[in-house]
Amino acid sequence: MDIRTLNADIAVGPQITPADVAALAAAGYRAILCNRPNGEGADQPGFAEIAQAAQACGLPVHHLPVESGTVRDEDAQAFGVLLASLPKPVFAYCRTGTRSATLWALSQATKLPLPEILQRARSAGYDLQAVVRRVANGGQTPGGAIDATHDIVIVGGGAAGAAVAASLLARRRDLDIAIIDPAEVHYYQPGWTMVGAGVFKPEVTARTMASVLPRGVRWLKGAVAAFESERDAVVLDGCRVVRYRQLVVCPGLKLDWQAIPGLPETLGRHGVTSNYRYDLAPYTWELVQRLRGGKAVFTQPPMPIKCAGAPQKAMYLSADHWRRQGVLDQVDIDFCNAGAVLFGVADYVPALMEYIAPTACT
Ligand SMILES: Cc1cc2nc3c(=O)[nH]c(=O)nc-3n(C[C@H](O)[C@H](O)[C@H](O)COP(=O)(O)OP(=O)(O)OC[C@H]3O[C@@H](n4cnc5c(N)ncnc54)[C@H](O)[C@@H]3O)c2cc1C
Repeated sequence: MDIRTLNADIAVGPQITPADVAALAAAGYRAILCNRPNGEGADQPGFAEIAQAAQACGLPVHHLPVESGTVRDEDAQAFGVLLASLPKPVFAYCRTGTRSATLWALSQATKLPLPEILQRARSAGYDLQAVVRRVANGGQTPGGAIDATHDIVIVGGGAAGAAVAASLLARRRDLDIAIIDPAEVHYYQPGWTMVGAGVFKPEVTARTMASVLPRGVRWLKGAVAAFESERDAVVLDGCRVVRYRQLVVCPGLKLDWQAIPGLPETLGRHGVTSNYRYDLAPYTWELVQRLRGGKAVFTQPPMPIKCAGAPQKAMYLSADHWRRQGVLDQVDIDFCNAGAVLFGVADYVPALMEYIAPTACT
């Protein structure tokens, strides 16, 4: 666990796990503040899981979710009010700790001198250069001047953003392209199906963002907070303003675990797993290996989902493992599909249609 002290009242850090909560209590922290919205990342335990662990340790815990790249002035004010009311020291976290540190800095803008705020954040490992103008302005967003201009600005350095940049550069090498993405890690998500089947190790599906972006592309590490299309610009977390001639937007899909009541509380435990999360795909493989008989239920949510084939692929690969272990006959497999059809393109996979006997659910 990574704890970064800002002052005697507060420390911040990256995403914690339920297992970290007891260590925080033992280290003397008296309250936990989560600034990360649920379902933001592919490797993120939900707030309910953290809250459950905190309650077991007797720690007050609060959820003040702030969208990545969208730290609003009112979020910082709410953070300041909460911080003042909680028993101290408080531990606040988000994906990396930057959002929590930014909220703290903005909330302290009228209480501490600017150099002290920046110095304390810098000592904790956070460069708050992007919000200096706001901190200097008493925690309020000032009107923004243009900080950079590029021919093409691509929002998101996932599979889509990286591929679009590579494709454009293959056509015109001299294009000035910037990709904006706050993530340090780029995940090869289709590989998680293979992790869940024991074919890949999880780490082969994760690469540093810097290593996968096409050469010649400028990576602006930050999150887009707002689009200002009337002046062909995007505004980054803090106030950095980046102008473009053409804009490509590919920030990916956001998973909504909360849409299924009870799921966030049980995901990753009690035999409930999902290959749609980096940290849970290994648990899928653990469960598949452990099952020697009984019932296995695979589910496919309604569209839009990241990969329409992934739920079925998990089932076929699991069944193949049970077949090779000689236990397939003892496993009763259900595939629950929320969609109307198994495949959008029926002719593509007629053979597969024969493996699953359809039954209507009531
Ligand atoms: C288990 C699994 C199996 C799959 N199998 C297949 C398969 O077999 N075949 C297939 O074709 N597809 C498959 N997919 C789907 C495929 O992985 C996705 O379609 C693809 O990764 C989507 O790419 P993307 O760039 O749109 O989004 P992502 O890869 O999710 O990237 C989005 C990026 O945008 C960034 N971002 C978000 N918000 C902001 C912001 N405000 N500012 C700046 N940046 C931002 C994020 O940090 C992220 O890096 C699978 C997916 C999963 C999960």
